[in-house]
Amino acid sequence: MLELSFLGSGNAFAPDGRYWSSLLLNGRYLLDAPPTLLPHLKRLGVSPTDICTIFISHFHGDHFLGLPFLLLEYLHMTPRQENLYIVGPPGVEKVIEAAAELAFPNLSNSDAGYQRCYLEAEAGRQQTVNDLSFQAFSMKHANAELAAFGYRLSLADKVVAYSGDTELCDELFDLAEGADVLVLDCNYSESRGLYHVSFADVPVIRKRLPPSTTIILTHLEAEPDVSGLEGVLVARDFETFRFP
Ligand SMILES: [Zn+2]
Ligand SMILES: [Zn+2]
Repeated sequence: MLELSFLGSGNAFAPDGRYWSSLLLNGRYLLDAPPTLLPHLKRLGVSPTDICTIFISHFHGDHFLGLPFLLLEYLHMTPRQENLYIVGPPGVEKVIEAAAELAFPNLSNSDAGYQRCYLEAEAGRQQTVNDLSFQAFSMKHANAELAAFGYRLSLADKVVAYSGDTELCDELFDLAEGADVLVLDCNYSESRGLYHVSFADVPVIRKRLPPSTTIILTHLEAEPDVSGLEGVLVARDFETFRFP
């Protein structure tokens, strides 16, 4: 059984009160960590210590700036003992620890009673983190200097592909290969623009993927009308999707 709980489903501008996109898989694996991470875990009734592994797609603030608050929570409010695994683009340890230190001085070097274990994503290679098998894919987003990854994870006999932020590109189809669920950036759900998928691209993507792959649209600017698109769902804040 696969369970995807959305902590948010909006883009960086939180349009119409949609919160920044992020989701939790089977209550343990977090895909991106927006500024609202901590309050939204609490709102969903998830204990912050239930999270074992966090995947960061890229270093835009709507995808990682919630981590300092989570680390502060572990230090003062909800102590954890288990290792915390954080996967991200090259330099992930330096970026996250610097953000923690900037947000709350001495947070990074405080002994919180657990280890933070960082793993740099390497595109195209099968990797393992905390017994979870995954593969990272280089996506096309913003400028070339900003590494942006999509992740494909094998979990509970299912395969989940997460695009992070990306425009329509061939790599998206490599990422989605064999996926039961593709969680897709559809930033331009009403308009068109650079660096992200538009809703106009969705029928094209739907056609190229097998019917066995369900597509869930997220990172939205508005609610898209998916009626007429078989196997395309729309993420909403605090909604959980289950795949038996
Ligand atoms: Zn981005
Ligand atoms: Zn974003």
